[in-house]
Amino acid sequence: MSAINFVIIGYGGMGSYHAHTLMTEEKEKINLLGVYDVLDKRHQAASEKGLKIYESFEAVLADETVEAILIATPNDSHKELSIRGLQAGKHVICEKPVAMNVAELDEILAVAKETGNTFMVHQNRRWDPDFLVVRDLYQNKQIGEIFQIESRVQGANGIPGDWRHLPEHGGGMLLDWGVHLLDQILWLVKSPIKKVVVDFSYVLGDKVDDGFICYITFENEVKALIEVGTSNYTTLPRWYIKGYEGTGRIDDWDLSGKLIRATGAEDVSAPKPIQAGVGLTKTMAPPSEEAMEELTFPEPTAEYDSYYSNVHDVLRKNAEPIVKNSEVREVLALIDHLFELAEQ
Ligand code: NAD
Repeated sequence: MSAINFVIIGYGGMGSYHAHTLMTEEKEKINLLGVYDVLDKRHQAASEKGLKIYESFEAVLADETVEAILIATPNDSHKELSIRGLQAGKHVICEKPVAMNVAELDEILAVAKETGNTFMVHQNRRWDPDFLVVRDLYQNKQIGEIFQIESRVQGANGIPGDWRHLPEHGGGMLLDWGVHLLDQILWLVKSPIKKVVVDFSYVLGDKVDDGFICYITFENEVKALIEVGTSNYTTLPRWYIKGYEGTGRIDDWDLSGKLIRATGAEDVSAPKPIQAGVGLTKTMAPPSEEAMEELTFPEPTAEYDSYYSNVHDVLRKNAEPIVKNSEVREVLALIDHLFELAEQ
């Protein structure tokens, strides 16, 4: 089955990562014809890498050999570029966050429906190994039914780049990293949301949020804490999950951490009191060795080798998209709601 002819719109950080990593890993399925960017210096960088340059967006749309475009431009431009691409008969893959809000997304989806062209969003972190491990634990219950999930990303570098600082470009961390973490948790738990609370952080003095903490209670009683921070010089684990029969901690993207299951040997689990600070505690004493066993993390496995492999099969074999637009819309609706809560 032939490779899909793509052009990348926006050859910045992520556009070049698509060009030289994600698409090249799927060379048999994705054929990169060239790139278009509004900046000459990006064209120069792309030329130096041997890529063909399109002088305008119109030139991309007019090229009949182009089947699909990948949009990797700042967030406020996604809607217009997507709609124009779809109307010109191209399939469109759009970077996250798909748009600034649900109203914009609905406009895009209406055009996708009208034209019959495919529109998909690059929610790539559904393939992160750490997430796939958590998903396996959630589905296969190695530490029992999971009832609490904490998902965090924390850095100390503030908000990177230029447009990410500006509300008019869709800057801020909820739309940047938040969309990944919320996409993961909603895709994982698959239960309606009962209650949500959010607290944004503005410690860097920008008009956009530089982080947030959000608590979600799902109707199936699973509770999730989602946190993004950009002024954390030392970090908490990437994931901390509690099941009725154990606890898991994944420290970082390298899958370091611990997975502990209770053995159920209750007769030996009665803890001995320990000195804690200047006090004494039995409650917070570590369980006895017999009361717990350490497990290894399950092998991270995804249904599709890669995002682009799924894109190829969606376009060539009518396969189900792994990232469905209804799911993307749900995440964006939650983001809209979190911004509304903050205003209140
Ligand atoms: P960037 O600033 O590094 O690159 C954006 C590029 O788009 C720039 O080269 C800019 O000149 C160009 N551009 C701006 N407007 C344009 C237009 N109308 N037409 C053509 N080119 C235009 O930004 P980035 O970090 O690469 O982010 C781009 C998008 O990718 C954002 O939506 C961001 O959220 C997303 N992103 C996704 C991931 C992920 O893991 N999925 C990671 C990083 C960024």
